[in-house]
This record gives sequence, C-alpha cells and structure tokens, in this order.
Amino acid sequence: MAASLKKTGLIGVVGGGYVGVCCALQLARAGHNVVLIDIGDPEKAASYGNSGQFAVGEVVPLAVPGVLFSVPGWLLDPLGPLTIRWRDLPALTPWLARFVLASRAPRVAAASRAMASLCDRMHEDYAPLLEAADAHSLISDTDCIKLYKSRADWEAESKTWRMRERAGLRFELLDRAALERLEPEMTEYSQFGVVLKGRTYIRNPLRMLQRLTRAFEAIGGKVVSGEVTGFDKSGRNVHAVKLKDGGSLELETVVVAAGIGSRRLSRQLGDDVPLISERGYHLMLPNPGVKVQRSYTLGWAGMGIVPMEEGLRLAGTVELARSDAPPNFARARNLLVHARKLFPELDSGGIKQWMGNRPSFPDSLPLVDRASAFDNVIYAFGHGHMGVGWAATTGKMVTALHERRPSEIDMQPFGLGRFR
Ligand SMILES: Cc1cc2nc3c(=O)[nH]c(=O)nc-3n(C[C@H](O)[C@H](O)[C@H](O)COP(=O)(O)OP(=O)(O)OC[C@H]3O[C@@H](n4cnc5c(N)ncnc54)[C@H](O)[C@@H]3O)c2cc1C
Repeated sequence: MAASLKKTGLIGVVGGGYVGVCCALQLARAGHNVVLIDIGDPEKAASYGNSGQFAVGEVVPLAVPGVLFSVPGWLLDPLGPLTIRWRDLPALTPWLARFVLASRAPRVAAASRAMASLCDRMHEDYAPLLEAADAHSLISDTDCIKLYKSRADWEAESKTWRMRERAGLRFELLDRAALERLEPEMTEYSQFGVVLKGRTYIRNPLRMLQRLTRAFEAIGGKVVSGEVTGFDKSGRNVHAVKLKDGGSLELETVVVAAGIGSRRLSRQLGDDVPLISERGYHLMLPNPGVKVQRSYTLGWAGMGIVPMEEGLRLAGTVELARSDAPPNFARARNLLVHARKLFPELDSGGIKQWMGNRPSFPDSLPLVDRASAFDNVIYAFGHGHMGVGWAATTGKMVTALHERRPSEIDMQPFGLGRFR
C-alpha cells in the first residue's frame, strides 16, 4: 500500500515481537506514521524460540471441560506436558480461578468460535506481509503431523478433534505403515499420526521477524531501541511514553503489544488484566545426526519436533510460573527424553537451551481493544500459544480500531469486557 499517503500523528507500537511488528507493519501499510519501540533483546521474547507454526484449525482452548481431571496426572508426571511452580501459586490463583470458569462448555464453545475466526484469516492476512518481507522461502512446505502413541489415544480425544473438524480443519490419518514410509528413521513408539492440512511453519522464526521488521522500515517505519517504563498522561489521553534511559517519545496513539511485559504497562493505565506467563522451553540441536523431514507435535508430551534452518528444535511444554522466576531447564531436558523415544540416535552435541514467556489469558484468546481509561491507547497482547499465527490478523484489527472503523472480524470476544 502507498506509504506516501502518510496520515498525520505518530503511532508508537510498544513491543517488537511478532504481534508488535505485525501491528506496526499493518498500520504503516495503511499509510500511518509508525514507530516501533523495543527493548532490543530478541532472544528473550517468545517470538524467538517458538515452533513457528501457522497453526490453522487450532481452535481448542487450553481450558476445556474435564481438563481439571487431567491436571493432577500431568502434574505428578515429571515428564508431563504441564507443571506449576508451587511457590508462585498465590500469584497464579486468580488466573487459575478464571481458567476453571473458562472450562465450562458454553464458554469453551464461544472461545473456540473466536479462535476459529482468527485461524481462518491466518494465511490470507499474512500473505501480503510475507510478500513485502520477501519471506516465502522461510516457510516450510512439508506437512505438519500430530503423533499419538496409538489410535486409541487419538480416539480418546475425539471431542476436541470434532471441534477442529467443525472449524474446517481437514486432516488425514496415518497408520504405522504410513508413518514409516514418511519418516523411515522414526521408531515404532508412535503408532498413529494425523496430517494437519493447510498447516505450515516458519523455518527460522527470528529471521522471519527480522525480515518483517525490515519490511516495516522499508516503507518508512522507524525502530527505536528502549524500554518503555511509563506514560505521560492527562485526562483520557496518553501524550508520550517514558523510556528507561530518561528520554520520552511524544505520540498520538500508543499500541501496547509487549507480550508478557504488557501486564505491567496496562496496569499503569488502570487495566489490571489476568495475564500470566505459560512458560515454554526449547532445545536446539545444531547437528541432530538424524534426518527428520517434517514438523511433529507429540500429542502425549505437549511438544514439537521441528526441523529448522539452524538445526532440530524440540519445543513446548507449559510451566505456570511468574515470568521473572529463574528457568527450570530440567523441563527443557525432558524434551530430549521424549524426542529420543522417536529418534533414539539424536545427537545432542552443541545443544542450546531456551525459555520463553507465552503471554496468556485464561480463555486462550488475545486482548485486542482500546484501554478503558484512555482513548488513544490500544492493547494487542495475550496471544498464548498462537501469537505467531494470529499476529497479522491482530495487526489488521488494531488498524481498524485506530481508524475507528469496523473490523473484518467480530472483535467483541477479544475485548476487555470479558474480564469485568
Ligand atoms: C515453546 C513455544 C512454542 C511456541 N510455538 C508457537 C507456534 O508454533 N505457533 C504460534 O503461533 N505461536 C507459538 N508460540 C507462541 C508465540 O511464540 C507467542 O504467542 C508470540 O511470540 C507472542 O508474541 P508477542 O509479540 O506478543 O510477545 P513477545 O514475542 O514476547 O514480544 C514482546 C516484545 O516486547 C518487548 N517489550 C516488553 N516490554 C517492553 C517494554 N516495556 N518496552 C519496550 N519493549 C518491551 C520485548 O522485548 C519483546 O521483544 C510458542 C511459544 C513458545 C514459548
């Protein structure tokens, strides 16, 4: 779109992860003056270490009916997909209470419909951004497959698969023989797989983010390195953001898209939202020594095995903990234990470990709305497990909010109203 049609007034997007960059790029493409402000430590952001999936059809919120019966088993299993840092329980309790409420059937159905509305637009809304970033080559064209130990394990999840099917996800079932044909080096530990049609993934999430940032700069967007620590405000307006180095930046509009850091910022603006970190881990194996040709999600372990440009990434698990608590890299090492059940020869030489904060609300939906006390502040955060895939659509919703026109999708489910 014509960057020359600059509309007046500077918009500051706080946060340079996928959500912030896609908001900045969508706004700039719509002709607005935009500055992106980020701390400048990309390896600490969730956008750095994820599995990179455009997870179309992922319309099942974390809180589903019956989830509470599964939780004790997961917590007792040292290799389980979920853990809680018990000493952080008091800080997590309000979120957990909302999580329980969110698992009631009518709420799950509504959350699932809202997730579907974002997933449906994922590829379409990303396409022009990938084009602008010249980044199609970073997208893998191989299948993404979810694995189960047995067909019975898959059937036990039939309710959630029906939700995905109703939302339009197409899939193909693979028995052991089919899996063996596709991935000869995989053991028999998994007897059953599901090809998720239409799902693709980014082979280098950091490089993609950098390309999107460059595309933003190429149409006149500015990037400022700095940490936003507060706001200059009067009445219902924020006039400037204050930076840690003592400086400040005058803005006409502020978009808060700072991932887990958004909690502190929105609180300063009077909105105390139930955002916590679902911490995830990855291990990067630069020379895995095994040929893995596709991206796999291990149904029983809540993790992925993803061949990327820089090696094989084992990523996932959920650890509910304060975002500033020290990492528990034993969680990361579990990823290797699971992966070796499928690929026993995996070489861990030169392995790198990482922990990141998924910014998550109890209903698995992001917050995309205007701040309650300030007319010129827009929130765009809380994308949980789906922030890479939902970022381009979030950018479009933020642009619509800024331009005070209706969005192409119903934004009501993503509003602040649900927390009141
Ligand atoms: C292991 C793992 C696997 C995942 N796999 C997938 C997947 O396959 N597909 C998918 O869609 N999603 C996936 N996710 C989720 C996804 O990574 C996140 O939802 C997404 O990265 C969130 O993006 P964000 O921009 O909101 O936050 P972040 O990536 O955390 O970025 C926030 C940015 O804001 C900056 N910031 C924070 N505070 C301030 C401040 N005060 N001033 C200035 N800057 C600030 C930070 O420096 C950071 O750069 C995964 C996550 C994990 C942990």
